[in-house]
Amino acid sequence: LSPVPSDIEISRAQSPKAVDVLAKEIGLLTDEIEIYGQTKAKVRLSLLERLKDQPDGKYVLVAGITPTPLGEGKSTVTVGLVQALTAHLNINSFACLRQPSQGPTFGVKGGAAGGGYAQVIPMEEFNLHLTGDIHAITAANNLLAAAIDARILHENTQSDKRLGIHKTDPEALTEEEISKFVRLDIDPSTITWQRVVDTNDRFLRKITVGQANTEKGFVRQAQFDIAVASEIMAILALTTSLQDMKERLGRMVVANDKKGEPVTAEDLGVTGALAVLMKDAIKPTLMQTLEGTPVFVHAGPFANIAHGNSSVLADKIALKLVGEKGFVVTEAGFGADIGMEKFFNIKCRASGLVPSVVVLVATVRALKMHGGGPNVTAGAPLKKEYTEENLQLVADGCCNLQKQIQITQLFGVPVVVALNVFKTDSPAEVDLVCKIAKESGAFDAVPCNHWSVGGKGAIKLAQAVEKAANQKNSFKYLYSLELPIVEKIRIIAQKVYGAQDIELSPVAQSQVDRYTRQGFGNLPICMAKTHLSLSHQPERKGVPTGFILPISDVRASIGAGFIYPLVGTMSTMPGLPTRPCFYDIDLDPITEQVKGLF
Ligand code: ADP
Repeated sequence: LSPVPSDIEISRAQSPKAVDVLAKEIGLLTDEIEIYGQTKAKVRLSLLERLKDQPDGKYVLVAGITPTPLGEGKSTVTVGLVQALTAHLNINSFACLRQPSQGPTFGVKGGAAGGGYAQVIPMEEFNLHLTGDIHAITAANNLLAAAIDARILHENTQSDKRLGIHKTDPEALTEEEISKFVRLDIDPSTITWQRVVDTNDRFLRKITVGQANTEKGFVRQAQFDIAVASEIMAILALTTSLQDMKERLGRMVVANDKKGEPVTAEDLGVTGALAVLMKDAIKPTLMQTLEGTPVFVHAGPFANIAHGNSSVLADKIALKLVGEKGFVVTEAGFGADIGMEKFFNIKCRASGLVPSVVVLVATVRALKMHGGGPNVTAGAPLKKEYTEENLQLVADGCCNLQKQIQITQLFGVPVVVALNVFKTDSPAEVDLVCKIAKESGAFDAVPCNHWSVGGKGAIKLAQAVEKAANQKNSFKYLYSLELPIVEKIRIIAQKVYGAQDIELSPVAQSQVDRYTRQGFGNLPICMAKTHLSLSHQPERKGVPTGFILPISDVRASIGAGFIYPLVGTMSTMPGLPTRPCFYDIDLDPITEQVKGLF
């Protein structure tokens, strides 16, 4: 339709097929799915065992140029591409997407089901509670938080010798067993484990816990993070089996003891309970696109302090289901310098999977901003630079696309540029971007119109991706895990971001020393940096040069399995803006229809 209706109107206009029908179409057995309502089903991990001898399909990553407030459309391209592959070229394909946090859905960004005629449906199910995985993470995360504070209280106020003995009937203990009682002696000032909630609630950024008299003065300052920033979310995204998830949950370091040694979830005796809370969340959720093709929605770790990619398990299952000639298309958050770098160095390391192609999404208007176009204010009409032809701005901004192509090439994977076309783009602007992309080393560069016409608008992209997947692939990681932590950070800063060097604060250096001493030096690095610039300064668009990347602190997610250096300060709890998305969201009590989601 023209003009293209709103995302929710399009989503609602299409009746999804029953999820059991979809499951059957893609070869799932009846006992391999657990149906939630009519349009969602969880898929059991037993499937991986049944299909273990089936060769994997081709693995495609969708990444983007450095994001701008104008939006690039990575999810929309991901969905458009699978719609084109399956519904128009008859090639089996699967999209694997992240589950969005409700923070942005009700806050600034809106949903993440794609958009226009390239969406996952029903989009309100996708964007709201889905199958409860984020709630399960919140429950598990907060159980562990409660366990930490309760343990400190009890250890310091009780002499009961059975206090530190888990998983045994305390009444049946022998004296010898009781003598094994361990005090954890947690140093409250070192607690890094925070409570979480899946709401943009800025007033929880700093709180005081333990103020009731019953807590006997064990008062301390703490904070809430958004649920998707929980290490448990990162674990869900990186785990490869129930056993592996349990081990990772147990390894999570939550504080140090008074001797400076790490205290883990396992030390607190909570591993089993966490695994129980997460036992259903580990199963990917099956949904469908507007054109009835299969989608897995699974995990959605924050892309700044975590790795910003959907789950390894969903990708692995999908790669088996599509068969050797099929395609699995997954998406990495933010620009290629962040989401893609973490996809390769963290996610592919955890999974052992080798990607075949990277699709790099760009838009004319975002490139114009990188070329020096004016800032945009949310809600205000776009300035003429973005709505009228301006070849100079486009040409100037292509430096960012060029740099992201070069970053992709560091990993030895062919790159296809998808130019997500907006109705204000002129044909000359579109041609110019594609020409520059090809000259900069992209295997191909194609304009796509899936947002306005659905999968048929991405057929050329699908054909280019299919061709690129048959190219020689010399995939490699950017750094060896054996290198010292600081050296790994420097490699990312210089080779990916283009920094001159890095500079560690004294706190960061002492943390590096501590983690190295504690035996965590061989983990991959998950940089926590602004996504709005290749540098640490969000206002620097294009390709900044000559900067020294400041590392203010270094932290670790031992269960997830990465060290995360903080480049400046990173907020782990977003706030609501002056005009949040929730103003537009409403429910029709008669039809039960959701309105205003986008
Ligand atoms: P990203 O994944 O990069 O954050 P999305 O795919 O979620 O971006 O798209 C962000 C928003 O932009 C969605 O609401 C989508 O409908 C809109 N959008 C994407 N592509 C286009 C386009 N070509 N024309 C108009 N709007 C678009």
